[in-house]
Amino acid sequence: MILALSGSGVSDGIALGQLHVLSRGELQLPEYHLESDEVETEVERLRAAIEAATAVLAETERQLDDETRDSTGELLQVHRLMLRDSSLTGAAEQVIRDARVNAEWALDRQAAELRRRFSRLDDAYIALRVEDLDQVVRLLQSRLADQPERVLDARVPHRLDDTVVLAADLSPAELAALHQRDVAGLITEHGSVWSHAAIVARALNIPMVMAVHRAQRLLREGEPVILDSHYGIVLATRDERLHGHYAEKQSAARQSRRNLERYLTVPACTRDGLRFHLFCNADLAPEIRRCRELGAGGVGLMRSEFVFTFDELNDEDAQYRIYREAVELLDGRPLTIRTLDAGADKLPDDLKRLSGPNPALGLRGIRMSLAMQESFRVQLRAMLRASCHGPVRILLPMISQVAEIRRARELIVQCREQLRGEGVRADPEIPIGGMIETPAAALMTAQFARELDFVSIGSNDLVQYLLAVDRQDELVSHLFEPASRAVIETLATIVTGAARAGRPVQICGELAGDPRFSGLLIGLGITQFSLPPGQLAAVKSTLVKLDAAACRETMQAFLNDPEAEAGAALLDQLGPSG
Ligand code: PEP
Ligand code: MG
Repeated sequence: MILALSGSGVSDGIALGQLHVLSRGELQLPEYHLESDEVETEVERLRAAIEAATAVLAETERQLDDETRDSTGELLQVHRLMLRDSSLTGAAEQVIRDARVNAEWALDRQAAELRRRFSRLDDAYIALRVEDLDQVVRLLQSRLADQPERVLDARVPHRLDDTVVLAADLSPAELAALHQRDVAGLITEHGSVWSHAAIVARALNIPMVMAVHRAQRLLREGEPVILDSHYGIVLATRDERLHGHYAEKQSAARQSRRNLERYLTVPACTRDGLRFHLFCNADLAPEIRRCRELGAGGVGLMRSEFVFTFDELNDEDAQYRIYREAVELLDGRPLTIRTLDAGADKLPDDLKRLSGPNPALGLRGIRMSLAMQESFRVQLRAMLRASCHGPVRILLPMISQVAEIRRARELIVQCREQLRGEGVRADPEIPIGGMIETPAAALMTAQFARELDFVSIGSNDLVQYLLAVDRQDELVSHLFEPASRAVIETLATIVTGAARAGRPVQICGELAGDPRFSGLLIGLGITQFSLPPGQLAAVKSTLVKLDAAACRETMQAFLNDPEAEAGAALLDQLGPSG
């Protein structure tokens, strides 16, 4: 018998092993009122729990080997900072004092309040913060209840190389501790491909499938499972033939990865000698390190909303340290930092009403930065300060008007002058780029590009806005078709516009990392690609096999003939064997 479950595969790879369920255990969370003379003791109890939780994270980090620490150290740091976040534990202390309730209850109330504020905002960044929040609250509550954290729990088998671990969800600290024991694969019931756990799983190459609903009910401790994270599936079966089949697939996939990796060192030229440039989309240190190891030309997209917490929104030094570390890791290769592209959240009260009912069309990206200029200046100053340690480029998200570029430029100049007045050096010629991801920006590329030093196509949003298909909505995902004529003609318009303005164009949306689109992009004249590190070898191995002149001819013929078929047929025609 086979039980097949599906979820979201967050990293490529196959894992075979016995299932181990990492259960959370029910925490007893009492709720009671305090007498006035008990309040200070309760505050002390919360503070002691914060100290103990901080010690658990420090101990977890201490036990890690260098590779795992490199990949997760900063995320543990984020959790350590959250333990002292004024809006969480600071506010919980206030709840103990004001409402005279016990620490568990105060913490629960404050976490619910933060979740409620976040829930109004439909944004991947916020989802990530909610996940962090839940993990930190759980850690604190386990300390208050005096129960051990589950990963450090002796019930977890010591070696996990033939074990697939299943949990409701996993924090980066837990994932690090499991990797330390060579876990074969991971399954969680919740979580998103944007979560920190997912980022760490990708950086450490651990096969992982997330959001496998009801997995804890359907799968049993000790049963043999197969996990294919490329397709996001989990099979529970004792069928030996199937296990044999997947074991072969696993070794073939490992072999094919080794084969693809050979391409990493060959010159970046198509068959007919056209040079192309590969950069990585990388946010956290492990990905940036990987980008350098793979020989990428630098970071083409650092999504800054994923690298610092909201508490650091106005903390110039904290942001500077993050950017500076990334610049130094790249050792002379450029770091392209995109300014904040979070949705409308924690805005000051007078701005909240501006966020509007539809976050995708609301105060997002550059609009939000320009609406919160104090925070924007903090970010710009931190970027400018980092630019004296190595090449930094600034990228502006979601532009839809020339005025936005002009205003951002003015602020950059002001910040640089201000820094100069303080005796701080910054790159006087820091390149400023704009994301082309709204239909307005695409149509106006030439005009926008004249105000910029480079443009970068954000194909994820561009397709969403062009086709009016919400990129997060499963119900319309079949309509999200990047190989449609509307998208291709728009890409061609962007390339022509950038060329007319004499500015380079790169692409940093998912299309850049999908080898099926490499021929189409080269055929349109795009030669700069920024993609997830894990896709670099596959895209490069495709690009070097292509004939750029032939791809250009195919694309020209397609653009000239309104009846020509788009979609998969066109992509096949543009493939290495097409
Ligand atoms: C894009 O829209 O293609 C892009 C790269 O930005 P993000 O995915 O962060 O919106
Ligand atoms: Mg975008």
